[in-house]
Amino acid sequence: MTKWFNETLYAGFRQSHEIKKILFEGKSKYQKVVVFESARYGRILGLDGVVQCTEGDEFVYHEMLTHLPILAHGKVRDVLIVGGGDGGILEEVLKHKSVRRATMVEIDDVVIDVSKKFLSSICGKAFKDKRTNLVVGDGAAWVRDTEERYDLIIVDRPDPVGPATVLFSAEFYKNCKRVMKPGAILVAQNGVPHMQGPELTDAVKLFQKIWKNSGSYLAVVPTYVCGFMSLTWASDQDLAKASASKSVAARFKKAALKGLRYYNPDIATAAFGLPNFVRKLIPGVKPY
Ligand code: SAM
Repeated sequence: MTKWFNETLYAGFRQSHEIKKILFEGKSKYQKVVVFESARYGRILGLDGVVQCTEGDEFVYHEMLTHLPILAHGKVRDVLIVGGGDGGILEEVLKHKSVRRATMVEIDDVVIDVSKKFLSSICGKAFKDKRTNLVVGDGAAWVRDTEERYDLIIVDRPDPVGPATVLFSAEFYKNCKRVMKPGAILVAQNGVPHMQGPELTDAVKLFQKIWKNSGSYLAVVPTYVCGFMSLTWASDQDLAKASASKSVAARFKKAALKGLRYYNPDIATAAFGLPNFVRKLIPGVKPY
């Protein structure tokens, strides 16, 4: 009998992945955790019934939340990753030899453990890298208390539920600003605008109160169904302009990033081209 992982994403809408084999199923202090072999997307990590990442298409999201800001900034040395328990973001960040330290603050050690055990195609050896500073804890508390300062903050959070709710708050963003060096960039995932438009609007509204520049860029992650995934950004510099600058192509070449399947200098520019239905969601951006 075929077994299915039914992901109820929004009222009246769900998607299902055929389960070939359950590799891990358990409950941590924070959430239900499952890792399974799927029929179409390889291994999948699910938290509280929602797909977090799949072997089949994690490269899109992980490449776009790392290489785009790193190559736009040009001098990223110290990175903070909030969440990101599967290690995919960490693995991509560490491909840059210019990065000297990547601090990752993930609240759930069960997610880290199952990712190391079953998702090595996503995290690789990132957790063992000597530049990795792995912290098990609440990212919101970390940015409130840390003395560290960062060139890039990547908020690799799930949807605003449970322990992740704080990662969408004004207080969290203000504390992120507190620990960012001049010219530093913050990037975050902000859902699928076709179904979660208000989440994008709310995030950018808060960014506009805290940073000089902010906005969104897009990527298509097939398992985050219903079209584009909005990635949001905030900085004292203009990420869209920096990402379109001629030096990005030279930095991309110099970084000699192996095996990328989504990010490239053309995408770095194109990703900021927003269709009208997304422009309408961003305060101060007029549709054509
Ligand atoms: N790539 C996924 C996506 O697009 O939604 C998110 C990946 S990652 C699995 C999200 C991680 O955020 C989870 O491992 C979860 O445990 C972690 N998390 C949730 N709330 C957190 C918090 N307050 N501080 C740190 N990590 C948190």
